[in-house]
Amino acid sequence: MTAVGDVAVDAAVTAAALIEEARSFLGPTPGPARVGRDPVNLPMVHHWCQALDDRNPAYVDPDASTRGHLIAPPGMLQTWIMDAPRDPSAPSPNEEVMRRLDAAGYTSVVAVNYDHDYLRELSLGERVSVRTYAEDLSEEKQTALGPGRFTTTVYEYLVGDEVVGIGRMRILKFRPPRASDVGERVRPAVGRDNAFFWDGVKEGELRIQQCGGCGMLRHPPAPLCARCASTDQGYVVASGRGVVYSHVTHHYPPLAGVEMPHTALLVELEEGVRVISELASGADPAQVRIGLPVELVFQKVPGGQLLPAFRPAS
Ligand SMILES: [Zn+2]
Repeated sequence: MTAVGDVAVDAAVTAAALIEEARSFLGPTPGPARVGRDPVNLPMVHHWCQALDDRNPAYVDPDASTRGHLIAPPGMLQTWIMDAPRDPSAPSPNEEVMRRLDAAGYTSVVAVNYDHDYLRELSLGERVSVRTYAEDLSEEKQTALGPGRFTTTVYEYLVGDEVVGIGRMRILKFRPPRASDVGERVRPAVGRDNAFFWDGVKEGELRIQQCGGCGMLRHPPAPLCARCASTDQGYVVASGRGVVYSHVTHHYPPLAGVEMPHTALLVELEEGVRVISELASGADPAQVRIGLPVELVFQKVPGGQLLPAFRPAS
């Protein structure tokens, strides 16, 4: 429930009103045309043919072309309008639909299919523009990704006023599941080689495997020393101090028992080995940078599992 003035408004009613509004933008009235940045050109055609290993001479070899001139691969249609400047103050009807779907909670998107109809061949030097509209909006469907609605955007590709191709992109806009909906963190596989490590975690120690033969430290644990081939294994307890060697922050999709955003860290410990871990809960992912001094903490993750994590050093 959200309060609007003195009236409590049911979120479902608000969503229904937004869907009603979205439907008012459906229909074959396209928004303003956006003009492609570059005309149809041979360098882009070369890149395309090389990437797709398309050896049709009609695209690149004027001597072998039976038309007397080169044409663009039809499948490139969309590339001619990519990055075409748009006027944010003049949204197209399909953008109006998307805004209302976002506001109604369908914030995630996945493309379902994209059909093209090619009405004529494109020649070098032609400048393509595009205008779009939303064709349909489904009722809410239960999908494997979550509850969502399908919508189709129609792309009218033009050269001047002539429609040269039509694209129909169907997408699913859906409500992303929350981390709390997707269960507990995956548990580690504990075996003979790494049991000492997980026993250490229970004791509040970060243990690094040490070769019994040559003394070299290694992580992750392994049955055999890569340097001296000894199978003797011991360990040392890490100080817990290190620096961030690399990091990545994951926003989506949700992972079981993981709070989003989630920052995975590769920490170079002061003992000289690197461990994959994560940023401690409550620390700010925006603070993380390569070389940041960090310190070890142990924290419970959803499901009650105790795991090593790191936070900026105090
Ligand atoms: Zn060794």
